[in-house]
Amino acid sequence: MSGSTIIPWVVGNWKMNPIQADATQLIQQFKTLLTQSTIDSDACHIGIAPTLIALDRTHQALSSAPCKVYTVAQDVSRFAGTGAYTGETSAELLVDSQIQHVLIGHSERRDLLGDSVEILKAKLHNALQAGMTIIYCVGESLEQREQGLAEQVVLQQICDIASVVNDEQWSKQVVIAYEPIWAIGTGKTASPQDAQAMHAKIREGLCQMTAHGARIALLYGGSVKPENAVELAACPDINGALVGGASLNAQSFYQIAQAFAQSKQ
Ligand code: PEP
Repeated sequence: MSGSTIIPWVVGNWKMNPIQADATQLIQQFKTLLTQSTIDSDACHIGIAPTLIALDRTHQALSSAPCKVYTVAQDVSRFAGTGAYTGETSAELLVDSQIQHVLIGHSERRDLLGDSVEILKAKLHNALQAGMTIIYCVGESLEQREQGLAEQVVLQQICDIASVVNDEQWSKQVVIAYEPIWAIGTGKTASPQDAQAMHAKIREGLCQMTAHGARIALLYGGSVKPENAVELAACPDINGALVGGASLNAQSFYQIAQAFAQSKQ
């Protein structure tokens, strides 16, 4: 089943980059490119996920962009509301600061920062309850792919969250990002054929879980750059991109957004 009528998303994940002066310049350059462009918010949802400390000023800076650009949190606490949780930021506090979108389950958080399935479910539950839109990341390691387990691993990661997402939330608040771990920050991209094949499997799995499965945006992530964006965007079940390295260059990120906005028109 194809999700080709879905409005694409292109989200830049800045990770633990850049310093403040460079971030200010990057946003300014990106806004200038948008001023000269034909991308409109109905053709492509664009988001930028800066560090926690830069969320507020990024949100302020993007408020004057010529089209809507969402500020996306890179993470959210597993704890809800307010309270004695040193170092944590809850979904309610993000929403209170007008941040309505959040990445959950990025492989760097799963592998380096201890985000277990139980923790991810708590984060997801709290963010959904607070009304946020979640970009839920899934993806297999190289070892798992070589063992022929890629599909099983990815579908399991999606099943992991089924108990905390209701049907209405699937339809309005969840975006999935497939990011094969071996392609993140390595310069290796899954071929458009391999990425499309996995996206089709994910779509099939989602359609079994929810009546809204055919309309959930499925993003690809893993060394997306202007050189491969057009080909990836042409795949019927690839409805956008989660972009790491290339989002730190305004021109590259803009070109990727343009590739997806144009391909789905
Ligand atoms: C990411 O970390 O989400 C990512 C896809 O990174 P990169 O584009 O650098 O591979």
